[in-house]
Amino acid sequence: MSELLPNYRIQVLLPLPLSGVLDYLVPEELILREGDFVTVPLSGREVQGVVWNSNPEESDVPLDKLKYVIRKTDLPSLPESLMKFISWVAGYTLSPLGSVLKMALSVPRKFDKPKKKTLYKLASELPDKLSPARTRIKETAVGNMPLTVKSWCEIAAVGEGVVRGMIKAGQLISVEVSGEENFLKPDIGLKRAILSGEQSKAAEHIVQQQRKGIFKAVLLEGVTGSGKTEVYFESIAEALRDNVAQILILVPEISLTTQWLERFRERFGAEPAIWHSEMTPAQRRRVWWATIRGEARVIVGARSALFLPFQHLKLVIVDEEHSTTFKQDEGVMYNGRDMAVVRAKQMNCPVVLASATPSLETLINAESGKYDWLYLGERHGPAELPDMMSVDLKAEPLKHGSWISETLRDALNENYKNGEQSLLYLNRRGYAPLTLCRSCGHRMECPNCSAWLVEHSQFNRLECHHCGFRRHKPEICPQCEAENSLVPVGPGVERVAEEIATLFPDARLAVMSSDEISSSKALKRMIESIERHEVDFIIGTQIVTKGYHFPMLTLVGVIDADLGMSGADPRAAERTWQQLEQVAGRAGRAEHAGRVIFQTYQPNHPVLQALISGDKDLFLEREAASRESQNLPPFGKLASLIVSGPDKNKVIGANKALASKAPHSKNLKILGPVPAPLSYLRGKYRYRFLVKADVNVNLQNEIRHWLDQLPSQPSVKIQIDIDPYSFY
Ligand code: ADP
Ligand code: ZN
Repeated sequence: MSELLPNYRIQVLLPLPLSGVLDYLVPEELILREGDFVTVPLSGREVQGVVWNSNPEESDVPLDKLKYVIRKTDLPSLPESLMKFISWVAGYTLSPLGSVLKMALSVPRKFDKPKKKTLYKLASELPDKLSPARTRIKETAVGNMPLTVKSWCEIAAVGEGVVRGMIKAGQLISVEVSGEENFLKPDIGLKRAILSGEQSKAAEHIVQQQRKGIFKAVLLEGVTGSGKTEVYFESIAEALRDNVAQILILVPEISLTTQWLERFRERFGAEPAIWHSEMTPAQRRRVWWATIRGEARVIVGARSALFLPFQHLKLVIVDEEHSTTFKQDEGVMYNGRDMAVVRAKQMNCPVVLASATPSLETLINAESGKYDWLYLGERHGPAELPDMMSVDLKAEPLKHGSWISETLRDALNENYKNGEQSLLYLNRRGYAPLTLCRSCGHRMECPNCSAWLVEHSQFNRLECHHCGFRRHKPEICPQCEAENSLVPVGPGVERVAEEIATLFPDARLAVMSSDEISSSKALKRMIESIERHEVDFIIGTQIVTKGYHFPMLTLVGVIDADLGMSGADPRAAERTWQQLEQVAGRAGRAEHAGRVIFQTYQPNHPVLQALISGDKDLFLEREAASRESQNLPPFGKLASLIVSGPDKNKVIGANKALASKAPHSKNLKILGPVPAPLSYLRGKYRYRFLVKADVNVNLQNEIRHWLDQLPSQPSVKIQIDIDPYSFY
């Protein structure tokens, strides 16, 4: 037996946090290739894995110690391109290979066979008179699209009763499908926009890159409302002429893009495949299968869609490429935008990075000629860019307990009288960021984190936004026991809404924050109600900066433009500029002119100067110069190591050991350890090292070598973050 064995040894990668592959033997009757799914034994269990190497070199594991592969799973094999991408991401982020595979295979029950299903399509003949709800269904239906009852409810925002009623009346006709619901083929000729000169030039450029079938990164920069979406829709339509092409569009937070999906449906007469974390297992499975079979042609998703098993990826688009939500902040810490560029490069196709406020990293790549650079400078149609001004709160102090200056209040009043919509922006959830005892000064803090509890007026609750801890707001101070002495300090969106309600008792308000909007359905309802002009004032957190188009919105008031300017984050100023520019971009997107008012204590801050003058180039040049002088990204490399654990002494011990072995050279410096800004989080003490290096240093190698010298300790966790975006 032993003579035969060497030919039959393979290496299998398991979706477990293991850094390497495991060796197994192949039974004689099986033929296995790389990418095949297999079931193997592991410590008495059966585990699914992927054949990673079918012809490994000699290994130290003696053959008679090896176990046999149990069976081959009946699944299409993992495309080689995805295996390559998984390996690359693991190497770059210093994550265990198995953890990245696990992420790529996060499709529950993907091994199940799909069940039979009943879908419903619109009857070809419908009565002329239909109820408003039924009309909604009729109007939402594009072409012959059969859908589940649930999908109809979602798409047309109607109750299940309406759909069932139409089925009964023969207005919706059942279609039996075996297996998964197919994705309809996008209809590329359906509803072409007539592009402006600069729009068609941009679209043409992307199409040309796409036809060449080689890798190229393209920055599509355009002021808010300039038609970037129309431009890349056009390039998607062109790419779809290739009958097998698959196209991936990454968006910051898929559940926040109902307007986008509607536009897509109108343009292509079909829904794209959607991929995000809130999906049900059945929905995930459907998209995963449709992708690996090459049936899903257009996939729009959150960053994890990069790990879908594409067969013929021909174009990648990253919308709002500056968005920090592309960075995954736990587990495998990767940046979806950067990895999209890598994925495109490996697949030999172009990648388009679209934004009104591109990241400095991308701008510098465009400036140096590494990326192509397309620019749209005009808003579509009659829309003009809004007028911007700041209110200096030092010169015009706020009244006690008020967050709206007189200037802003007058503007809101005028807008309201004119019947136009106003948006108040404050990136803070809840009622007040801090609750304090008037008698003894005690601050209400989270027991698990070094953070204040945020007051939420609904249910009279205090909440930790880091760990989710909640408690009822106490009647007496837990420290001095004074009664009724706990007072809210500072504003959150709920408190601003309260002030607006007092100022404009008859006005209709909508608060847009993740507390109010618990589902994408709720969000859809709110957006539609704003579109129908059932709302006069919108008070929102950064949810509202996400690319919405509200034609009647003409005034944006920023309650606290200084929020987020300071802190340990080297990108603080850039990020504040991006957020404020984006929220300002919501104003005046149709025929009515828009106006933006920033309330600030620092009217001379470069961020505000850049916004108001419209001269962002000077600001970005200065940002770039300052980062270059400090050797910060993209001019230098940066990584952060968070050392954490429940036992403070053990964490400090680990810090000392790490510090003693820390590499230092002319090109690489290690700063720390220092307590992280959030020095206690979810019951764990946290310290941070920062690794700064020149661009030519192999940061991953240095860090790997450094950590390899230390024994691992189960009670202390070391989290490595390459290119960190989070500094708390
Ligand atoms: P951006 O993505 O740059 O913010 P959008 O693509 O959302 O801009 O365009 C802003 C608005 O202008 C949208 O309502 C869009 O439908 C409209 N629009 C842009 N370009 C055109 C065009 N060429 N024809 C018709 N409508 C357009
Ligand atoms: Zn907490």
